[in-house]
Amino acid sequence: IDSKASFPFDNSYARELTGFYAPWEGTKAPSPHILLFNEPLAEQLRLEQATSDPDLASYLSGGLVPDGATPLAQVYAGHQFGGFSPQLGDGRALLLGELLDKDGNRFDIHLKGSGPTPFSRGGDGKAVLGPVLREYLMGEAMHALGVPTTRALAAVATGEQVMREGAKPGAVLARVASSHLRVGTFQFFASRQDWNHVKQLADYAIARHDPDLIDRGDKYLAFLTAVAKRQSKLIAQWMQIGFIHGVMNTDNVAISGETIDYGPCAFMDHYDHSTVFSSIDHTGRYAYGNQPVIARWNLARLAETLVPLIDPDDQDNAINLATDVLADFVTMQKQAWLDGMRSKIGLATSQESDEALIKSLLDSMKGQEVDFTLCFRRLSDAALGQEDDLKALFDDDEKLATWLEGWRQRLAQEKRDPQTIAAAMNAVNPIYIPRNHLVEEALSAAEDAGNLIPFKQLLARVTQPFTRHAGFEAYERPAPSGYGPYRTFC
Ligand code: AMP
Ligand code: MG
Ligand code: MG
Repeated sequence: IDSKASFPFDNSYARELTGFYAPWEGTKAPSPHILLFNEPLAEQLRLEQATSDPDLASYLSGGLVPDGATPLAQVYAGHQFGGFSPQLGDGRALLLGELLDKDGNRFDIHLKGSGPTPFSRGGDGKAVLGPVLREYLMGEAMHALGVPTTRALAAVATGEQVMREGAKPGAVLARVASSHLRVGTFQFFASRQDWNHVKQLADYAIARHDPDLIDRGDKYLAFLTAVAKRQSKLIAQWMQIGFIHGVMNTDNVAISGETIDYGPCAFMDHYDHSTVFSSIDHTGRYAYGNQPVIARWNLARLAETLVPLIDPDDQDNAINLATDVLADFVTMQKQAWLDGMRSKIGLATSQESDEALIKSLLDSMKGQEVDFTLCFRRLSDAALGQEDDLKALFDDDEKLATWLEGWRQRLAQEKRDPQTIAAAMNAVNPIYIPRNHLVEEALSAAEDAGNLIPFKQLLARVTQPFTRHAGFEAYERPAPSGYGPYRTFC
């Protein structure tokens, strides 16, 4: 590691996983310039040197290789909407290298939109400004909400026009992830019956994400369990904030348990399990309420790749063991969901009847277009005795009124004062989320007029999601009535 280099890279993937990628370089952008740069993240990553490097925009758009980088395109496969694609891979992305942050944690620096690669499959390898900004905003919002996620280091304009539905400004997202190992990375080699490579990948993944499993005799089963545990918590968190990923293909599922590959994702406005925003999700496979089931399905695809390693001498036994992990996933996911929902309604202790209490609140929201985020936020006002704003979210608040009575009785058993309860609730129920109408406004201003001010204002709110700021009431409110059905595009 050259400590004088702008990026103090230490590239384990390039070093240890030859055969799992193509060494590659990005396309030189005509006039790269940095639109957004995440200073606090850069500092955490010890990038003080890079931050003041005059070539930073060229490095982070892929056209210039910084010292110590080993840019490469990773290969992977994946089930897309249920159908298997044996070869995908980074079609418009590059892994520039890895850094150790201030705390010694390893992170990938990854560029999205840096030009075609050997895995582009006819695509142009480019990204446009709108989706780059959406991923920037969503990732940073999720991080601030306490959800494991990739993060945005920079958004760089390339100065190029990219053809989509019309010409759009080109951009590159520089993002940071604890790795880009995907379920689909395992599937690439398993589908080729290349078990040596699956084993090599699993060993690498264990060393990187689950080092305490290295010496265990049952390490591959334990690894599957560790991934299941991370995914169970992640999906529970998505459900609790109303996040809809939109493209839960197996190539978009990270072994690390981070939310990855923000495409047509969005937050649910009113509570409805069938909510789908993505224009390409015709059957609602990745609808809000389907996410736990799909996560289990994706995990089963990972399990299939690990079965030959779990018990090489007895495949029936391996299948049974892996099947048990999938069952455990369901239990863990439900438990994580329950724990989180308890906090959302102000409970710090647990009782058998809490699940029914939580479900009955959700039930009372059904069919009434109740804003999911505001409902939970205003519940803390109700904990302080002010119910009017909460009730105003409901067309018919009769069920809610009954529910509030039961809830108050339950809260009384907590033996904490209302102030403490309300403060705890406000620390888990956001007031600001990236609301769809605000996201659209911000992205349009940036794309159509080159105006980043609305984006930066929205970013400032959603990166402090739990703290109400006076003067920003517009950021709390749901979309104006008549806003119409929301559609997202990749
Ligand atoms: P995604 O839906 O963004 O997860 O992408 C699925 C696959 O398509 C990945 O392998 C991407 O690298 C690839 N891909 C998406 N967009 C492009 C593009 N414009 N050019 C080349 N490959 C792409
Ligand atoms: Mg150089
Ligand atoms: Mg993807």
